[in-house]
Amino acid sequence: MKSIKIFAPATVANLSCGFDVLGCCLDTVGDEMVISLSSKPGVRITKIEGADLPLDTKKNVAGVAVEALLANYENEIGVDIEIYKKIKAGSGIGSSAASSAGAVWAVNHLLNNPFSPHKLVEFAMEGEKLASGNAHADNVAPALLGGFTLVRSYAPLDVIKLHTPNDLVMTVIHPQIEVKTSDARSVIKQNVTLKQAIHQWGNVGGFISGLFTEDYELIGRSLEDVIIEPMRSILIPEFENVKKAAISAGALGCGISGSGPSIFALSKSITTAKNVAEVINDVYTKTGLDFDIHISKINSQGVKIIK
Ligand code: ADP
Repeated sequence: MKSIKIFAPATVANLSCGFDVLGCCLDTVGDEMVISLSSKPGVRITKIEGADLPLDTKKNVAGVAVEALLANYENEIGVDIEIYKKIKAGSGIGSSAASSAGAVWAVNHLLNNPFSPHKLVEFAMEGEKLASGNAHADNVAPALLGGFTLVRSYAPLDVIKLHTPNDLVMTVIHPQIEVKTSDARSVIKQNVTLKQAIHQWGNVGGFISGLFTEDYELIGRSLEDVIIEPMRSILIPEFENVKKAAISAGALGCGISGSGPSIFALSKSITTAKNVAEVINDVYTKTGLDFDIHISKINSQGVKIIK
């Protein structure tokens, strides 16, 4: 039986201005999975540690994503999946995406890569559809391609890997309250004004230009969300105070990670990212809520094999 152990990375989606289209991959935060090929046909989740998630293949995003891959594979094979969860479900840092992306990446690797990374994004999106009812790619794309990614179009799917400036470091605070993606979507109004749209697409263009030219000031100026953040931030305790503290500690920008409740801040150095962690720690300690803070460089590789 061929088997590998992988690191399935956490991801930060939206990045303020790019709702449903921008995302990036983290390096020090993620799950572990052991994926094995088996001569017994079918997909089985054989073990889950660290979270109370369904073992039923059809209810676990990893199972659904691998089934989508196998439906496109010529031979009938079996796959056994063990999940060691470190990213909590509903954290807003791509818990479901890590499992979907990690599982399809590992199966593809064990089969000697019959599918391109872009095709794997499509399979992993089936897992996202199960988790949130919506086949979004803004977490699975960076988990599979690494670095920063843009979903230029959903129909047809057109995912682009962007440039990653070397000095960028993420600080992420995860308040231990669950905000379901479906709930976070329900607070969003379906219409935007032309004025808001102009503001937002200016920022998306600015952000991407800033990544390619490594213009950290421009990246910072572009990390602004006039559409989603004002509606969603009400679901996150102390959001405005965290943001103010992060910016005053030197962060380039700060916003909601995915559908929340996690909040991300992007900085130009590890020293600044640590200072940001300290000030947001101070803000959150006063709330009495449990929380985790992660500091991570951007992972330009995506899913990785662990020895
Ligand atoms: P996140 O934004 O952190 O990815 P979501 O709310 O999008 O969180 O996804 C979590 C949902 O997906 C939960 O309802 C969870 O039960 C379901 N789920 C199914 N399988 C998994 C899995 N392997 N890992 C994480 N969540 C899973």
